[in-house]
Amino acid sequence: RIVSPEPEDAREDSVEKSLRPQTLGQYIGQAPIKHELNVYIKAAKQREESLDHVLLYGPPGLGKTTLAWVIANEMGVQIRTTSGPAIEKPGDLVALLNELQPGDILFIDEIHRLPKIVEEMLYSAMEDFYIDIVVGQGPTAHPVHFPLPPFTLIGATTRAGLLSAPLRDRFGIVEHMAYYNAQDLEEIVLRSADIFQTPIATGGAHAIALRSRGTPRIANRLLKRVRDFAEVSPDHDTIDPEIVDHALTLLRVDSAGLDSTDIKLLTTMIDYYDGGPVGLNTLAANIGEETETVAAMYEPYLLQRGFLKRTAKGRVVTEAGYQHLGRQFKPKD
Ligand code: ADP
Repeated sequence: RIVSPEPEDAREDSVEKSLRPQTLGQYIGQAPIKHELNVYIKAAKQREESLDHVLLYGPPGLGKTTLAWVIANEMGVQIRTTSGPAIEKPGDLVALLNELQPGDILFIDEIHRLPKIVEEMLYSAMEDFYIDIVVGQGPTAHPVHFPLPPFTLIGATTRAGLLSAPLRDRFGIVEHMAYYNAQDLEEIVLRSADIFQTPIATGGAHAIALRSRGTPRIANRLLKRVRDFAEVSPDHDTIDPEIVDHALTLLRVDSAGLDSTDIKLLTTMIDYYDGGPVGLNTLAANIGEETETVAAMYEPYLLQRGFLKRTAKGRVVTEAGYQHLGRQFKPKD
């Protein structure tokens, strides 16, 4: 799915790495977060201490991993990256912590998916920089107190609600990543085009931004696809609004970044349920998707965009949703 906020494959991963900003100054948008982090980083450096633990939460593709690397760069320390599901047992965590130098950063993506036993070991590691582990088995088993260098844990999650209170409370800095506005996305597209050395008009970047669902990862992916169209087109050596429109219409991404499934979802609600309210299960069954998929992949953007709203009785298409599809809205009493 071209407008999915999740990374597509390993190739996209490596392109993304080349597009990552390195400093807070290059990191576009998220002004309140950058401002706060700038203060905390400066203060920690002045005191020659490690930065407090940081929790970044928000939807996929908004730049959480990127920001962790930026923080490491600004602090002038090394970063080790892993993810919740990759740390299967306490020994895996010990191995990671053992490699850290004073002040280093351990980045754990999808931190809500850490096994409970590993999470519990993190408590003392985060709070007092030690872990107690049991070495040996049976009668020879004995506890070992293992001191750690001061380090910074940066956790990222799309589901902050799934974090246990004891873990959440151990993060001194908690930042909520918001969707990006069109102006910031336009800037991200212009910056990426510059790195790709692809000629682009501001209007072209703006047209891509409007279809990027508030998400830098999608903005960069759309830019890459449009670039292909521009490169093979005999009369477009620059990405302008016209070629964006042409390419994204062929790729079935509409003017608000909706794809054919988003549109099917809204039109099904309008045509068969008079715009709602419709329960999520019914809706999912009607469009041939799993309920979980609709809840995680389709609904959030439609809600954020104001095309859909949640009510006690189910989902309802809003007036803006009708207008976007060019349908007549009839207010219900
Ligand atoms: P997340 O970890 O939240 O899923 P990533 O950090 O992997 O998201 O970001 C996806 C891509 O989007 C990055 O590789 C980067 O190229 C781009 N990106 C994200 N945030 C920004 C930003 N603020 N400025 C510029 N590019 C960004």
